Amino acid sequence: MKLAIATVCLSGALDEKLEAIARAGFERVELFENDLLSFNGSPAEVRRLIADAGLSTITFQPFRDFEGMPDAERERALNRAERKFDVMEALDCDLLMVCSNVSPASLGGMDRIADDLRALGERAARRGMQVGFEALAWGRHINDYRDAWEAVRRADHPAVGLVLDSFHILARGTDLGAIRSIPRERIFLVQMADAPRLDMDYLSWSRHFRNFPGQGDLPVDAFMDALAATGFDGLLSLEIFNDQFRGGSARQVAIDGHRSLIHLLDSLRKRSGKPVAGVPAMPPRVRCDGVEFIEFALDDQAAIGFEKLLAGLGFQRRGQHVSKSVTRWCQGTINVVINTEKEGFAHSYNITHGSAVCAIGLKVDDATAALDRAQQLLDTPFRQAVGPGELEIPAVRGLGGSLIYFIDSRSDLGRVWDIEFRPTTGGAASEVGLVRVDHISQSMVYDEMLSWLLFYGSLLDVEKTVEQDVLDPGGLLKSQVVQSADGGLRIVLNGSQSSRTQTSRFLSEAFGSGVQHIALATDDLIATVQRLRANGVPLLAVPENYYDDLAAKLGLPDDLVATLRAHDILYDREGDAEYLQVYTHTVDDRFFFEIVERRNYRGYGAANAPIRLAAQARLAAQHGASVGGLLP
Ligand code: MG
Ligand code: MG
Repeated sequence: MKLAIATVCLSGALDEKLEAIARAGFERVELFENDLLSFNGSPAEVRRLIADAGLSTITFQPFRDFEGMPDAERERALNRAERKFDVMEALDCDLLMVCSNVSPASLGGMDRIADDLRALGERAARRGMQVGFEALAWGRHINDYRDAWEAVRRADHPAVGLVLDSFHILARGTDLGAIRSIPRERIFLVQMADAPRLDMDYLSWSRHFRNFPGQGDLPVDAFMDALAATGFDGLLSLEIFNDQFRGGSARQVAIDGHRSLIHLLDSLRKRSGKPVAGVPAMPPRVRCDGVEFIEFALDDQAAIGFEKLLAGLGFQRRGQHVSKSVTRWCQGTINVVINTEKEGFAHSYNITHGSAVCAIGLKVDDATAALDRAQQLLDTPFRQAVGPGELEIPAVRGLGGSLIYFIDSRSDLGRVWDIEFRPTTGGAASEVGLVRVDHISQSMVYDEMLSWLLFYGSLLDVEKTVEQDVLDPGGLLKSQVVQSADGGLRIVLNGSQSSRTQTSRFLSEAFGSGVQHIALATDDLIATVQRLRANGVPLLAVPENYYDDLAAKLGLPDDLVATLRAHDILYDREGDAEYLQVYTHTVDDRFFFEIVERRNYRGYGAANAPIRLAAQARLAAQHGASVGGLLP
C-alpha cells in the first residue's frame, strides 16, 4: 500500500508540517484546505514546497456539502468544485475528497446523489482529475459507507470512487462485511484513524480524540482484514484530528504516525500470512520473558546512600564490572546495576536527570531480531564504544532518552554477568524475600502517553489495559499498563495533566520523563516487611482511616485488618484474588520502591493509588522538598 499522512494531523505552519512528514519517511501527503488557506503563499508556491520536501499530494480536502442539493443550489455547488479544481491544478494534485453533505438544505435520494457525483466526475475527468466520496458518520443522508458505495456504484463514472475512513465506519459499529465485496479499483483512498472508546457525539469524538492505529480501542485490525480481502493496495493515509497532536511536536507525531502504519501493516501480514506491499519483512513483536536488570545512573555521593538502601532492601553486592565503575546487586532473579562512571551514556544521563534509572534490560528470545524490528519501526538504536572482550548489548532509546537493552540466552549476552563482572561480596546481611521485578512505573506528561503506548505496543508482544483515572492530591493522573500475557513484563505508564501532581514534580525534578517507581515481588509480604523493619527501612505510613474503610468495604476479618494496619500494607481484592502492597519512602524526591505480593491478582491496586499518593504528599510536606528518608 502507499502510505501517507494528512497535514491536519500535525502542529505548526504548513512548511513545518511538511518537513516533519518528510523526515518521518513519508513520500505522500493529504493537503488540508485550511493548511493551504492559512499559508502565506500561492498554491504554486505550496506545490514547490511539497515537491522540495520530496513529497507528492495525494488529495486535497475536504470538499463539503456538495451532493443532493436542491436544483437551485446544484449548479453553484458544481461551480464551487471547479474553483477547487483550479487550486488542485496549481498544486499538482488530482484527487478531490468529497465528504457527505451535512447541510439541512440537502435532499438525499440515492439517484439524485449518484447523478450529482456523476456530474462532478465528468467535470473532474475533463481536467484529468478524480473525486472520492466519503460517508461522514454524521452525514445528513449518507452516513454509512455502504450507502456511499451505492452512490458511487450508481454514479458509474471512472473518475468517481469511494473513500473509506476507518473512524466513520468503526465509530458507528457498521458491519465490515460489505467492504469485502467492493472492487478494489473503486476505492480511491483509505483514511486510517483509531480512537478511544468514548460516549459522545460522533462529530466531537472525531474532531478531538482520533489517534493513530493501535493507540485507541477501535477494531482497526478487523477493518484492515476486510480491506485486505478486496486486494486493495492503493493509498492508505492517516487522518487524525487530535488536540494533543496539534499541540505536540510535529516531528514526533509524524514519526509515531509512520510507526503506527508500519505496525498496522506488519500485523496484517502476520495474520494473513501474505506479503503486504508498503512494509518490509521484519521479525515478530518481541516476546519478553521479564526484566533482566535495572540500571541506575548515580554520582558517587548518591551511590553511597543508594547502596545502603539496597542493602536494607536485602540486596547483595555480587559483581564489580571488569573495567567500569559499575556494580551488580542481586536478590532472587532481580539484578540492580549501579553505574557511577564519569563518562559515557550513564554519566551524561546522570548529569541531565540526576539520580535516575538510565536503562532497563529486557530478557528476550532473540536480541538481534529485537533490534532489527525496532529499527524497522523507526525506533532509535543506541550504540556506544565497548572495551575489549566486553559485549555490545543491542539497545534502543526509550522514554526520556533512557535505554532499553535486549538480552537473550542464545548468544554470549546470556553470560553477560560472567563475562563483564568479577564476583564480589557485600551488601545485605540477609535477603528479605524479594524474588522478581513485578512492574516498572514510568511517569510522563500526558501528551507523551500515546507515543509510548505505541512504542511498546509495536515493538513488544504486550497488550494494553484500558486507561484509568487516578486522583493525586495535586490533580488528575491517567494511568495505562502494557503487559505481556504471562505477566513477565509489566510497565505502568502514568501521565499527568496537571502541573501540581507528584508525577509532575517528578518530571520537573528529574528534567523529564522516566522511571518513578519499581515494584518488586515477594511471595510473603508480611515476612518481607518484618525483615525490612529489622533492617531499619522505613515504609510509607498509611492513615488509620484507610483500614477502617477497608474493613467495612471488603468485610475483612479483624485479625487480617490488624496485621495490615500494623505493617502499613495496602490491600486489594478481586474475587478470590488478593494484592498486598507497601512502599518505601521516596529517594531524593525522585523514585521509590514498591513491594507487592500477588495472590492470583492481575491488577495494580488502582483503588489504593490515591491513598498512596496522599501519603507521599503528606510525607514530602513534612520533610520539605527532598525526602531521602530511606537512608538510615
Ligand atoms: Mg476522513
Ligand atoms: Mg504500583
